[in-house]
Amino acid sequence: MPSFAELTVFDRIIKLPQLKVKDYQFIDGFGLVLVVENIEQKATCPRCGKTSDRLHQNHERLVRDLPHAEHDVYLKVNRRQLKCSHCKKPFSEELNCLRKTRNYTERLARKVITEVLESDIKNVAKRHNLSEKEVETILKEKFSDLETEKPQGLKKLGIDEIAWVKGQKNYCAVLVDLETRKPIDILEKRTQECLRKCFTKWGTEVLEQIEEVSIDLWSAYKSLVEELMPNAEVVADRFHIMKIVNEELDVERKAVKKRGEKLKNKTEKTKILEGIKKSKYCLLKNKEDLNKEQKNKLKELKEIAPRLIKMYGLKEKFRSIFNSQKSEVISLLKLTDWLKKAASYFPDSCGTIIRWFGEIIPYFKNRTTQGVVEGINNKLKLIKRKGFGFKNFDNFRLRSLLSFHFKT
Ligand SMILES: [Zn+2]
Repeated sequence: MPSFAELTVFDRIIKLPQLKVKDYQFIDGFGLVLVVENIEQKATCPRCGKTSDRLHQNHERLVRDLPHAEHDVYLKVNRRQLKCSHCKKPFSEELNCLRKTRNYTERLARKVITEVLESDIKNVAKRHNLSEKEVETILKEKFSDLETEKPQGLKKLGIDEIAWVKGQKNYCAVLVDLETRKPIDILEKRTQECLRKCFTKWGTEVLEQIEEVSIDLWSAYKSLVEELMPNAEVVADRFHIMKIVNEELDVERKAVKKRGEKLKNKTEKTKILEGIKKSKYCLLKNKEDLNKEQKNKLKELKEIAPRLIKMYGLKEKFRSIFNSQKSEVISLLKLTDWLKKAASYFPDSCGTIIRWFGEIIPYFKNRTTQGVVEGINNKLKLIKRKGFGFKNFDNFRLRSLLSFHFKT
């Protein structure tokens, strides 16, 4: 038997507050095996809350722990089954450092996951002398812990999407808690069916407490929210509306260019084509962000394409309505006024805005937007681009959600 002094040294090395080392064994080519047991003799019955120390059965298991001095370390743990003297039924004692069905300690899982999120499975497996499969299991089990949790205190939900395969119209839906600025889930498809399945899983308690849902201009989202979230107001996301206005502005820019190309008069043609050249980003930019060169470009455009410049002005006016902190009523009046002025310049955008008017106006109440979603999407794109050896959607989802929700 090892001496008390030896065991104390091991206790200090493993530093697991709930456990004490009873014995140890060093096995060549395998590692260090520490025999540990719970310091507490008594454990609490999960049924009645009374404590008991009446042994029912011993359950010895070997679990992997963090390595020490380049040796693999295993804990031989006896998770006792005790019999409750009150309700007369057996129960297993709880050990914080170790989940019931898992063959590794919580702290090993934390370390492995933290490292995988910064590098990749292959390297981490190698570093810890684990197989890639074992690392994947650790990730998947931690993820399933997260997955069973329902969204807590969700009031403002954002529904956006991210292209799964770049360039293809293959989108996955990203659900975001707009207050905590974290994604709640990522769904493989942005279909009603996919979203319905996810919302139903959350249950009515979660759905009923949602107050606002910010969506892009997609009627499938709208009808689903109206159907499943009785207390939620649908808010059209301002950035998506702005995008439509910008797109229509760009259509006009292309049309000016096309008209220029068709001109027979060479001087006229050169003037128009030179003027329209490199104007795309000047036109899309906010007025206050233009540099001197870009301002000159717009002046040049005023001469050759007055309609385009008029549209630029209207686009900026539109943006300022959404940027200002004016009241709901004043904003409503300004928007109505804008629609009148813009009708002949932005027929498509005006049509969309009128169709979604009921969802655009609530924006001016709380100014809820999906602004945060952009940052999240950028991070997701980075995860996707790096690939990390993930070939399928499930792995992408797992890694993405862990990287936002796993607290290191
Ligand atoms: Zn009991």
